[in-house]
Order: sequence, then C-alpha cells, then structure tokens
Amino acid sequence: MRSSKLVRIATKLGISLLIAVVLNILITSITESPKMSKMLEERHQLEDKFLVLEQKIASAQRTVDEIIVRDHQIYRPLLDIDTLYIPEIYAEYNDSKYASLISDEIYGDKIKQAWLDIDQLTRSMYYASRSLDDTQLLAENKEEYTLVIPAIWPIDRTKLRKISSLYGWRVHPRYGYRRMHEGIDLAAPIGTDVYATGDAVVVKAGWQAGYGKYIELNHGFGYRTRYGHMSEIYVKAGDSVRRGQTIAKVGNTGVSTGPHLHYEVRFRGDHVNPINYFNKDMDTTAYRDLMNQINPDNSK
Ligand SMILES: [Zn+2]
Repeated sequence: MRSSKLVRIATKLGISLLIAVVLNILITSITESPKMSKMLEERHQLEDKFLVLEQKIASAQRTVDEIIVRDHQIYRPLLDIDTLYIPEIYAEYNDSKYASLISDEIYGDKIKQAWLDIDQLTRSMYYASRSLDDTQLLAENKEEYTLVIPAIWPIDRTKLRKISSLYGWRVHPRYGYRRMHEGIDLAAPIGTDVYATGDAVVVKAGWQAGYGKYIELNHGFGYRTRYGHMSEIYVKAGDSVRRGQTIAKVGNTGVSTGPHLHYEVRFRGDHVNPINYFNKDMDTTAYRDLMNQINPDNSK
C-alpha cells in the first residue's frame, strides 16, 4: 500500500519535472531562437562574403604574378635585360602591425591573413609596375640600348694569353686571403689596345688605388664598366666614347702580378659577371669553347 503510494508520488513528480523541462525548451525556443538564428545567419553571410573577398585577392595576385612572369621570361630576355631587384619587396612583414589591428577571437587569424595577402599583393603590384616601366623604356630605346650595352671583349681576343682570373671568390694573388674578385683578368702583352665595350661617357680616367691606371665608363641604362692596371690612358672624364674605340693600353700598374687588363661590368651598382656579356660578341660554339676552357667540368 505504502509503496504504491510512493510510486504514485514519484510518478507525479516525474511528470511535473518532464512538463517543466518541455515548457522550458518551448519558452526558450520561442523567445531566444529567432534572435540566435538571425545572428547565426548573419555570421554565415559574413563568412561567405569574406570567402569571396579572399578569392578576389587571390585572383588579383595570380594576375599580377602572370604579368611578372611574362616580363621576366619574355620581355626582358628579348631586350637582353637583367631581372629587376628591389630588396624592399622581400622584407619581412611586421607582425606587431597586424596584432594591433586584429583583436577578434574567432576571426582574428583570418583577418590577419587577409591583411597579409593584401600587403603581398600591393608589393607585387609595385614590383610589376616598376619592372614594366623599365621594360617599356628599354623597348622604346632598343636601338640606343643595343649600342651602349657592354657587349664586346675589351681587348682583341687574338692578343689574349689567358684568362688569368675569373669573376667570383678567390684567394687574392697579392694579399693571400679570400675575397671577391669583382671582374675578370685578361692577361695580354703590355701595349695591347683596350676597347670601350659599348658607347659611353667617361666618368673617371686616372689613378685609382689598387687599380693603377684606371677608367670607369657610364653606359647609361644602369651599366658601368671599369678597366684597371693599364699602362696608358687616351681619354679623360667627360669624353664620349664609342664601342670598339681604343681608350687605353694594357699595363701592369697598381696591385698587379703581371701584365693584364682587369675588367668589370656593373649593373645598377652591383657587380655582374662580364663573361655573361661576351656571348653577344661570339657565336655559340666559340662561347661554349671558352666556357669549357675556363671550367673543364662543363665539357664532360
Ligand atoms: Zn682583377
């Protein structure tokens, strides 16, 4: 009797509890859900919009990349010009800049990535526009450019005894320690004619520490050439010279271990390997022979 009463009470309690829970769920769903679902919907819409934005950034980046590739692989090789180098383009991104911009817990990382992508895009566009400006300038002045580029040997190759030192790292013959050799050494008899390797204006002609009797030419379009250790000089600063014009004679002045011409090519202030410019003066076979002679490994 007692136990069946208890069961009844428990059942009543259970039913009341169930009703309370169901009511609670019903009330909650009636009063809060519309607000919640609206928020969720808005969030999804925002996420969709953000996704579209990211896709647009990526697509713009691809377009700019294609322009840069075309400039590097087609326009510049056609015009014989080196790739443009702008160091700022490769600088690291400053993380603190983004940290202060984004505090959102859920979307912080995504927004930061978008900012980074936009900054990358801006850099690429800047690079592409600078690079294309160069290319356009050179295309318009192709004829003049062809005349000024340092494209021939600075001495008659039949007078060349040997290439006594190449461009690159070496143990210096006089100082005995490793340092960069910024040009090429062409051993030839004293008195051999030294030619201007492209049309240019003489920047300096005279004594230069280490180089001895020295000439520096400005060819324009970012190119300069330097000639060292000569015995005689026939030009002075301010003179205009033509490609192939005799500007000096081979000698052994300055820090030098024997008669030779030290010859450098500089492009936009950086040294470049003069060997790469000689090929314009030689047919393919002669150029390959020279490369093999310099680096016997190439022939194997
Ligand atoms: Zn040298």
